[in-house]
Amino acid sequence: MLCKICKSKGKREKAVIYLRHHRLALCREHFIEWFERQTEKTIKEFKMFSRKEKVLVAVSGGKDSLSLWFALNKLRYETYGLHISLGIEKWDYSKKSLEICRKFSDRIERPLIVFNLKEEFGYTIEEIAKGSKRKDVCSVCGSFKRYLMNKIAKEKGFKVVATGHNLDDESALLLSNTIRWEVGYLGRQSPVLPEEGGFARKVKPFCFLTEKETVSYAILNEIEYMKTGCPNAKEATSSHFKRALAYLEHQMPGTKLRFYKEFLRKAKPIFEKEVRGKVELNECQVCGMPTTAPVCSVCRTLQRLKEC
Ligand code: SF4
Ligand code: ZN
Ligand code: ZN
Repeated sequence: MLCKICKSKGKREKAVIYLRHHRLALCREHFIEWFERQTEKTIKEFKMFSRKEKVLVAVSGGKDSLSLWFALNKLRYETYGLHISLGIEKWDYSKKSLEICRKFSDRIERPLIVFNLKEEFGYTIEEIAKGSKRKDVCSVCGSFKRYLMNKIAKEKGFKVVATGHNLDDESALLLSNTIRWEVGYLGRQSPVLPEEGGFARKVKPFCFLTEKETVSYAILNEIEYMKTGCPNAKEATSSHFKRALAYLEHQMPGTKLRFYKEFLRKAKPIFEKEVRGKVELNECQVCGMPTTAPVCSVCRTLQRLKEC
């Protein structure tokens, strides 16, 4: 298959990727160009951030987050990486993830902020989960990561935090929230969550790009990323929704993009009205971060661990 853009210019360049839902075959150069243009378009359309703002990019060491940092840096945004080191020893997971992020930060010559859970709190994420009420390491990890992203952004003067969520993640989340009619989550699912009540603005510039596209972008730019997932990752419920959507996408190309885009355009405003102003936030008595309870869940978990 030949690159469509090269062909229109009278050149015969082999395509490296076929984007079925866009009916577009592209060579390396034109795919990278297309990918970055899509990213920029999303940033502008949702007024995510400008070139005058510092952007904190949450990087795990995986393909999506590192591709995001790479693309934003190439698009000349002022980026800083943030890596939360969880202290997961199995497969040397946390050690290797940190190494990859450090190497990447050296490659693109941008600073990396590292928060080491064990050094700062005295516990790894697995130890925290064991001592918490919830026990499920992934849900504890999720809430600690969200908390730390906000806290570090606030302390270091960032108004915006970018994450590498892609269209596969967002459409699977949407399907899962729709099947359960989670009105609250549906009202808040968005490419951009505005800065409010002490929380930094959260943005997802890759929300219209598929996982296949982000992996291809990483490979074509020779980005070294973690190939193995976290040892704690189980068969998450989200993977069932991802598989269901992959089937629909195969039968009807463009389903994922349509599903998500039409939700944002037609349904989200309705759910948004339902949840607007329903959550009252106050400052956590211990750390000062916004919370609905007198003490936030992270501080409560850490207090419980100290009492053990
Ligand atoms: Fe955290 Fe679970 Fe993800 Fe591992 S798989 S990084 S423990 S949320
Ligand atoms: Zn081309
Ligand atoms: Zn707190």
